[in-house]
Amino acid sequence: MCNVMPELPEVETIRMFLNEVLMGKKVQQVRHLDSRMVKKGHVSSEEISRRLPGHMVKSLKRRGKFLFLEWDTREHLLLHLGMSGRLLWVFEDEPWAVHTHMILDFGGHHLRLIDPRRFGRIGWIEKGEELLPHLGIEPLSRKLTARELARRLEGRTAPIKSLLLNQSIVAGLGNIYVDESLFRARILPHRAGGSLSEQDTKRLVRAIHTVLKEAIIHGGTSFSDYVDALGHPGKNQDYLQIYGRNITHCPVCTKPVVSQVIQGRTAHFCQYCQR
Ligand SMILES: [Zn+2]
Repeated sequence: MCNVMPELPEVETIRMFLNEVLMGKKVQQVRHLDSRMVKKGHVSSEEISRRLPGHMVKSLKRRGKFLFLEWDTREHLLLHLGMSGRLLWVFEDEPWAVHTHMILDFGGHHLRLIDPRRFGRIGWIEKGEELLPHLGIEPLSRKLTARELARRLEGRTAPIKSLLLNQSIVAGLGNIYVDESLFRARILPHRAGGSLSEQDTKRLVRAIHTVLKEAIIHGGTSFSDYVDALGHPGKNQDYLQIYGRNITHCPVCTKPVVSQVIQGRTAHFCQYCQR
């Protein structure tokens, strides 16, 4: 199970908790902001550290796998957890973990970004600027309908697995939830996106909704790195049906689960139940 990164349910779990905790709190100081984590072309780490102190958190938003801390200035601090990033809410006297790349000091408590592999990113969105307009549909919004997904898949010859991983089509899905959604919709991952029937697309949209909502209820999936903002792992790994090192046989027909690399990403599926 390589390449497991926080996907929509994990990021949403962190968002829901931190939104409650941070709303209305004022940041006193930005410490230890690692300039290598800041996205190219964005405001520099020094500038972020200079701008934020004294400002209040208005809300914490999410688009796909990205988080946005909205400030009272209507500016946003963008956070992406990459492969191994953790966003932890801790007491200020908690010893610093190695690989701490940003500390927002709220007085008494810190919000710390810890990322051993450093694939995460920090960015800055100016007032009035759109939040990542290139991102695809938000899968839990009303905008993801069977008709809209069919429109986006029409004529596409790439495998449905790869198209669902493409963040500009649907935002927030990664390896785990794509495999789970395709299994529940009974669609083979290597089928061309454009070959899906109306019924297939309907089942797929329903499956995506169910899989993501269940994962959020279970606090996300933890195979190795992922923990929530208090450092607790999620429980959704116990509820997955096709993705996971302990899942060797299909829970429906009991035939062995197939693992196959499709355009660089491993897909887990049942060749009997999925068509
Ligand atoms: Zn099966």
